[in-house]
Amino acid sequence: MIFSQLRKHGFLTILICLCFINYPLPSKASPLEYEVPIASKQIPEAPLANWDMLFFNNGNTIKSSTTTTAASPIKFSYPKFDQSQLNNLKSIRSTTTTMIHSGKYYVSGEFLGKLEIYVDNKLFLKDEAISTSKKIKKSILITELLNKSTSRDIHTIQLVHSNFQSIPTLNFTLKPIQQTVNLNERDISYNWGYYSPIGQAFDFFHLNFIHSSMYKQGDYFATLYTDDLASIFFDEQKILESNPTSTNMLNNAVIENVSVGEHIVKTDYADSNGGEAAIHSAITPFSNWVAYYFNNTSSIGLPVSKQVITNQSPNILLKANNESSSTIPSVVAKNYFSARYITYKRLPAGTYHLEYKSGEGVGIWLDGKQIAYDWKDGKKPLRKLTVNISDNTLYSNSKDIHQFTVRTYNRKSPQDLFVSFKSSIESPDTQIKTIVIDPGHGGKDTGAIGIGGLKEKDVVLDVSQRVETLFNDLTPYNVYLTRSKDIFIPLNQRPALAISKKAHAFVSIHANAGSSSASGLETYYYGIKSSAINKTNINASKTNYPTFFSKESSITSVLEPTASKTNPYITDSKTLANFIQKRMVASYQLQDRGAKHGNFQVIRSNNLPAVLTELGFITNKNDANKLGSPYWRQIAAEAIYMGILDFFESKGSDVSGYRLY
Ligand SMILES: [Zn+2]
Repeated sequence: MIFSQLRKHGFLTILICLCFINYPLPSKASPLEYEVPIASKQIPEAPLANWDMLFFNNGNTIKSSTTTTAASPIKFSYPKFDQSQLNNLKSIRSTTTTMIHSGKYYVSGEFLGKLEIYVDNKLFLKDEAISTSKKIKKSILITELLNKSTSRDIHTIQLVHSNFQSIPTLNFTLKPIQQTVNLNERDISYNWGYYSPIGQAFDFFHLNFIHSSMYKQGDYFATLYTDDLASIFFDEQKILESNPTSTNMLNNAVIENVSVGEHIVKTDYADSNGGEAAIHSAITPFSNWVAYYFNNTSSIGLPVSKQVITNQSPNILLKANNESSSTIPSVVAKNYFSARYITYKRLPAGTYHLEYKSGEGVGIWLDGKQIAYDWKDGKKPLRKLTVNISDNTLYSNSKDIHQFTVRTYNRKSPQDLFVSFKSSIESPDTQIKTIVIDPGHGGKDTGAIGIGGLKEKDVVLDVSQRVETLFNDLTPYNVYLTRSKDIFIPLNQRPALAISKKAHAFVSIHANAGSSSASGLETYYYGIKSSAINKTNINASKTNYPTFFSKESSITSVLEPTASKTNPYITDSKTLANFIQKRMVASYQLQDRGAKHGNFQVIRSNNLPAVLTELGFITNKNDANKLGSPYWRQIAAEAIYMGILDFFESKGSDVSGYRLY
């Protein structure tokens, strides 16, 4: 604010000089012209918007005087007269020459006697109040003086006052008529400078921005940079208001836990008189950055541009390609600019590692407190330091909300800005996982055929599609099926899909077949113990499954005798198998036949944690009832889904938001 006023003053000083050199005050329109021998040197050197008063007594100037008023609104009233000034006083002509921006104005005031008002030497008002004072109420449209080559905004107002009784009474105000414009914008960036939006008065214009849009659930922040009066409302609630009298033109606010759906943002902007007109604002999710750019190296005054920087990776706090200027708005001077970056993040209290690199000057603030500062020219090496974060007391329910501000300047040797901020405790794996579900068999390969003609290929496709739906609906993970319809897929193509997708888990889904008494759930992982299946058979016989015989292991389409490569992810595959088996047993409620070694091609010729799960015996009455039931298929799908999440969690992923139960 102070800065802009200083600049404006400088601007106007030049204009007033031009005015007096090129446009000395003519007063042909004044009825008192003949009385006054006006010479330009008689005009006191008054700052713009001052009033020059000339006192007359029947043809002679008796005194001149000036009175100062604010530039806008333009006001005039007489100073206190002393008796000597009033002796023989017949008339007073008060003149101001000042900048008046084009637009509609309201003229108001009060007088006693005879009054003529001239605007640019044209009579605007002529009126008389004989015994009681009269009010002035009139609007005027002031337009640029097109006959002038420069200073078209410099206008002259003359108040010619006579026939007053004893003490002259007059006051006059010229005030812009506020105009309000509605605009459908949310994130706003306008620099009107000393001007205004098209069609608006240069001062005192009002803009209302109303914008409705869809939001994802989460935390957001609002930021506002202006030297005038502006407010931001989120769903009718005021969240931000600027303070035009403060030197701090940047204001920010947090909008916690925004619900999914439509929200309305209203931004009111009221230009005040003088100075530059500018507003920059944005509402964006936590972790995004809002960057304000300045064409100076100290980030002072009003920004020339603003942008929202999105898609920062979790461990990199901020990355800006300042060196190539590829991410910098075009209005920013490439090798001579500074920037202020703002973001909010949720971070638990603890110790963090800060790393940063920037050319040239850089400063980093956490919750307003400086944590790094290197404000010197020249390229710099990567700097590393440790920062302790304690609970933020600003937010009663959300002590983990923290604000980061980064300031940089670039002058001689711009360098990319890079800031990373990592917890000293190993952070959970936030990588987006990819899962491949392999519905066994398909097409000409029906798999096992069970009670009532129930086909394995149909049962496992349905369960697989249910697993796919769960991942798609509940997680950001990528999920692929090796087949999504009843078609034959060669065995080698199934792990090949998982490998090509760089999947993190592969689950082949099958149903078992055997004697009518064989029953239960089992999950295989590829292992080096060739005796695994035999051992299981022994165990099975010990646990009352005397007639156990798994046909799956004898189906050549699943078990292939030779393989050039074997899956190295034995431990992870075993962990995955254990989690799925445990979830299946708990909810699907069939006999637990265990997680065990199996030498199936789809899990052996694979290169990632891979398992093959058997959903029960299609040849057993009780098992087949569940395999044929949509209800139980859903239970099976949910168990597999939960087992995969358990596995990812054991590997360091935060899956707490994706669980069903
Ligand atoms: Zn099968």
